[in-house]
Amino acid sequence: SQIKEVEFVKSSGRAKDCPKDDRPEFAILGRSNVGKSSLINALVRKKEVALTSKKPGKTQLINHFLVNKSWYIVDLPGYGFARASNAARTDWSSFTKGYFLNRDTLVAVLLLIDASVPPQRIDLDCANWLGRNNIPMTFVFTKCDKLKASKGKRPDENIRDFQELIRENYKQHPAWIMTSSVTGLGRDELLLHLSQLRNY
Ligand code: GDP
Repeated sequence: SQIKEVEFVKSSGRAKDCPKDDRPEFAILGRSNVGKSSLINALVRKKEVALTSKKPGKTQLINHFLVNKSWYIVDLPGYGFARASNAARTDWSSFTKGYFLNRDTLVAVLLLIDASVPPQRIDLDCANWLGRNNIPMTFVFTKCDKLKASKGKRPDENIRDFQELIRENYKQHPAWIMTSSVTGLGRDELLLHLSQLRNY
């Protein structure tokens, strides 16, 4: 299940411009600053594979990376930019929704959620939208190494609160994995999970 090789394939501005290919793919999605680039770099173990764009709200592209010549990691634009205009937000949702609803080779969405903060409305909305549309999803909680803020809760408490808040929307609760790009927590578990989903 290890990643030996990663190759950038394409940036697409529209869902219908994505590579025409039948190899399976996983889309990585989350709020800006959730730790997406760090997680991808930790998975790939190559600092120079700068897979993600660092321009919030500007670069709205679907980026395809081919792993071991056999499956894709798809980096989607982050959501919830405080400074993005309403137009940019609408744009985000229309094109990513198009991608989710029409991409036949999408095995699952990895929804990244920051475990160092309490449940965020925008993450819950996203999880519920994916759930309502029957899009397979795994919750990947990030920053699980973080100690609790002075008044905040611990990562495991935030995770429990998040799970509790979305529970009623799901017949079967999505799989979830705790990760940290700092300690490497969850890295092997996540890679194994992806290989199991591919072979399903
Ligand atoms: P992105 O905008 O989602 O790509 O987020 P980044 O990967 O750039 O990370 C945003 C911030 O969170 C950076 O300051 C990272 O150093 C920090 N960060 C990311 N992952 C972790 C983690 O697992 N643990 C801790 N403690 N900080 C993290």
